[in-house]
Amino acid sequence: PNNLPNGPVFRNAQFFSERIALRDRIAGYTYANIFVSANELSKEITKLVQGHTGERVMFMCPNDVNYVITLWAIWMSGQIAVPLSPLHPKNILLYYANDTNSKLIVTTPEYADLIQRVSRNTHSRMHVLDDKMQLNCAQKAPVSQSDLDGGLPLEFYDNSKALILYTSGTTGNPKGVVLSHKNLQCQITTLVDAWKWTQNDVILHTLPLHHVHGIVNALLCPLYVGAKTIMLNKFNANSVWTYLLGINAKPDDRRISVYMAVPTIYSLLIEEFERVFKDDAKMVEYIKNTLKNKVRLMVSGSAPLPVPVYERWMEISGHKLLERYGMTESGMVLSNEYNSDREPGFVGVPLPGVSVRLVESDEESGELRTILECTNNSGSLDFAQKVYKSENHKGELLVKGDGIFKEYFNRPEATRKEFTSDGWFKTGDLCEYAADKKKFKILGRKSVDIIKSGGYKLSALEIEVQLLAHPDIKECVVVGVDDDKWGQRVVAFVVLRGEKEMALEDLRSWADEKMPKYWVPSVLRVVESIPKNAMGKVNKKELAKVFI
Ligand code: ATP
Ligand code: MG
Repeated sequence: PNNLPNGPVFRNAQFFSERIALRDRIAGYTYANIFVSANELSKEITKLVQGHTGERVMFMCPNDVNYVITLWAIWMSGQIAVPLSPLHPKNILLYYANDTNSKLIVTTPEYADLIQRVSRNTHSRMHVLDDKMQLNCAQKAPVSQSDLDGGLPLEFYDNSKALILYTSGTTGNPKGVVLSHKNLQCQITTLVDAWKWTQNDVILHTLPLHHVHGIVNALLCPLYVGAKTIMLNKFNANSVWTYLLGINAKPDDRRISVYMAVPTIYSLLIEEFERVFKDDAKMVEYIKNTLKNKVRLMVSGSAPLPVPVYERWMEISGHKLLERYGMTESGMVLSNEYNSDREPGFVGVPLPGVSVRLVESDEESGELRTILECTNNSGSLDFAQKVYKSENHKGELLVKGDGIFKEYFNRPEATRKEFTSDGWFKTGDLCEYAADKKKFKILGRKSVDIIKSGGYKLSALEIEVQLLAHPDIKECVVVGVDDDKWGQRVVAFVVLRGEKEMALEDLRSWADEKMPKYWVPSVLRVVESIPKNAMGKVNKKELAKVFI
């Protein structure tokens, strides 16, 4: 399956025509039928944009077959797809519409009112999908091979833009990341090879569809190889358990082989497990056996995976979560290797075809010095550049590879700023290479996770790892807050287990033995919960504002 020809994802549908591509709460849909429905819709889209190509077309669909049909249709008609989430508030939707100068917004009847309001205030015209499209797609008669000819000539896709995905807005306004069909093809084939996707896989999809994780990793990869996606309308811990265990599922859907999620989702699944199954010894045994034998790959990413979550998930499911690191701008960059051992806190090595560099900038000249450079050449790590400072493999992570985005839409200045003169993309994340383990570790964002206190540079992520080892701490977020004396102070926001209480002094005396003195938080805020966005990310800047 990995010798599929180059081209946009929908092209491969012709090889898998009668196979089920997707199942949602309504029905199952073959590759052929999705293709034909998309082809029909693409003709309407072409008309609506007066025959142009390269127009931005926004779309808001529920997590079901409407999403895939619309995405493929936008591509078949040669436009750039801009996925919107029903979770986005109206002001963000207006921002995206204006920012991309989209001519068209495609949506399903259930979101038509909301989209109408966006459309009225922008240059984007609304097109509401036929509410029968979904059922028609499920019921189409078998199609012939000639019906599977659609879209523009293949050469078109060699040089054209496919998607604009907005970054999560964790460090500022979300930026529209432009990805070409070539970028996507590279990101997909890299993951297909690294994570051993085949057409026999069945993925349970429960992620938002406006973000690289839910789109590229968890949807385009299975569609590319002819696998089956079981898509839940939205995440619900109870349903996910039901599906993972094959309870009530259709016989041919009982064998979920792949699951991908953000750390928060694994935490919620663990909570549900503790609530429903924990005291039933037989069930506990059954769950472990079923997951171990049926599921071959469970992935975590998009935010740091807390060690206790990794460990508890392993006890429950027998799976060592495969953690990977990536960005909207680059797709996946670092990943634990499929067949090698995993260690919590480490995100593995560069994916095949990806090169990474760790750099530090000279305090006076601002010049970037390379600490280490590593390329994965078909599975073997090649340390091209010699280590500049051998005792310290820490620096900002730079990336190069064919999956890296073209530009931030309409932001030439921002684009220029994020690349070095020799073409490396600056991630803004600090990273460490542990030579003894031969693995990389993410230390956090330069702008919010690196705390400068009393002359030290501390990683908030490393402090969080330590604090999470406290038996009463369920969740924690560490931030730096400006301070006249120390530069910044270490502030911990914690959510406690059950009815527990905690005073700063208790935490400090516990922490004193566990970590360097300057890591120990000097401010403690016990909170009910920590606000996160749809991808399980914490906006630390917002959180820190409480103190300003
Ligand atoms: P914005 O760029 O708008 O501030 P964002 O960077 O959160 O938002 P994304 O592209 O969705 O937007 O997220 C990429 C970031 O997520 C990475 O730069 C990194 O900081 C974080 N990240 C992703 N995977 C991991 C991981 N496994 N461990 C730690 N951090 C991760
Ligand atoms: Mg970012």
